[in-house]
Amino acid sequence: MLPENLLAGQMMHRPLRVGDILEYAAEIHPDGEIVTAAVEGGLHRATYPALRTRVARLAHGLRAMGIGAGDRVATLAWNTQRHFELYYAIAGIGAVCHTINPRLSADQFTYIVNHAGDRAIFFDSTFTPLLEALWGRMPDGLIPVELCAPGHVTAHTIPDVRAYEDLFEHSDSFDWPDFSEEAACALCYTSGTTGDPKGVLYSHRAMVLHSLFLMASAQSTYRAGNRILPVVPLFHANAWGIPYAAPLAGCSIVMPGPRLDGASLWELMNGEEVGTAYGVPTVWLGLLDEMDRRGAVPKGLREVVIGGSAAPRPMIERFMADYGVDVIHGWGMTEMSPVGTLSALTARMEKWPLQERIDLKARQGRRMFGVDLKIVDDAGSRLPHDGLATGELFVRGNAVVSGYFENAAASISAFDAEGWFATGDVAAISEDGFLMIADRTKDLIKSGGEWISSLDVESIAMGHPGVANCAVIAIPHPKWDERPLLVVQKALGTDPEVDELRAHVGKHLASWQVPDDVVFVDELPLTATGKVSKLELRLRFKDHAIERTPG
Ligand code: AMP
Repeated sequence: MLPENLLAGQMMHRPLRVGDILEYAAEIHPDGEIVTAAVEGGLHRATYPALRTRVARLAHGLRAMGIGAGDRVATLAWNTQRHFELYYAIAGIGAVCHTINPRLSADQFTYIVNHAGDRAIFFDSTFTPLLEALWGRMPDGLIPVELCAPGHVTAHTIPDVRAYEDLFEHSDSFDWPDFSEEAACALCYTSGTTGDPKGVLYSHRAMVLHSLFLMASAQSTYRAGNRILPVVPLFHANAWGIPYAAPLAGCSIVMPGPRLDGASLWELMNGEEVGTAYGVPTVWLGLLDEMDRRGAVPKGLREVVIGGSAAPRPMIERFMADYGVDVIHGWGMTEMSPVGTLSALTARMEKWPLQERIDLKARQGRRMFGVDLKIVDDAGSRLPHDGLATGELFVRGNAVVSGYFENAAASISAFDAEGWFATGDVAAISEDGFLMIADRTKDLIKSGGEWISSLDVESIAMGHPGVANCAVIAIPHPKWDERPLLVVQKALGTDPEVDELRAHVGKHLASWQVPDDVVFVDELPLTATGKVSKLELRLRFKDHAIERTPG
């Protein structure tokens, strides 16, 4: 109800629902397609009109299985056409597509399926062993469906597994139900470092708005005809909005399936003339190495979108200076649908010298419409957006979580008194709106009362030719509370020394910010979403003795 002194607008109220995106794409962008490097091997193609038909047939199949409005339906799947179909068919009938990250621990996986109360689980054959091992811990009545053709089921120890392609019924159209835009369409759990994973329940309205905001902020990406490759998995936070925004904008999606190494990605991108690819920093290390090996950019590649963790400046430089591939640096969270900021530059900024543009891209970008940002000090008072003041980052917006699914305790502690969501990130914001993430609150290093940003040190260390990948963690110190330790994965064929790496970092930072020691590992541990796991590194090196005196 509007207050009396306001005049109500007289416009229709049509619900914003994700199902309408595919309808629109099929009508307006009939040449748009989904190309999949299939789990079984080979390339598979389907246009948006063909997908609309398949999604309608699948919806009949879901109904026939007894899936109805509000039911949660789990997926355990790679980036493929089938996963895309499930996104739309499940949401279209008013049910909730619950994407599960197969890299979670057995306990987290079991917790999530039970907590969500999933009615069915659709899984790629790759994950048969995982599901077979955990089947005894799954909820009663969970319906298993393997994403395969009839007769190709591999999960023999699970009773009554159905083959996905058997579900498709013959009617090519579906009488989609009418429901509120506030209804949930998708569910994704985010696993913090402590406690059980927390569910983020997305509404149809938020997903449509998020897609529109994304299109407005990433105009170089969302142009009809562009071909987008999400390396970021569809089980990670709506794969950053691509499954919705791409069809809406008339872009095709090239789905890489399970093969995500640099060589496989290079081949697929080159063959399919992918214009934009999305992923976390670690996957781009593999692609860049492959580009170096071949001395060539995959045909058609114009830009890469790097998010999920900070994109180190040297990585941005390799793409932009060595290969002429533009970088868009993005920041967001599962709780934000998930994109918050993007480093798309204006026409004026595009004319700046290359190194200045790279400096700008090393920041996390500017907020999308529909995302408000504030930084606050320890007392909760707002800090200015002057590029210097650094504080905890809070957000609010049309596609930001308002509470966790069936988890009142976690919901209460996630918001401040004004209802803003606490991101757990520490950041500064420049006068012209560029976000600069310094760290996760828990990853900041406190040395002698001064903060050291692990992200800053990592970005500099990555610029040394002997460093393939690295992480900086805090080590307890009797005098300084904490001191930074640099953990390095060496670049192939190099053998950098501790003092050489320290000297390199020391060229760019104050001496007390330079890590006291460097340790070398064969491979950095990754989290379920492909980010470097600092939690695991902190555990591994908690007893590492630092003898040097800083400064
Ligand atoms: P998730 O919900 O798993 O996507 O994790 C969200 C968190 O990832 C954020 O709160 C940040 O700490 C981190 N993150 C995402 N993108 C970036 C980025 N571009 N730079 C720094 N941190 C990032």
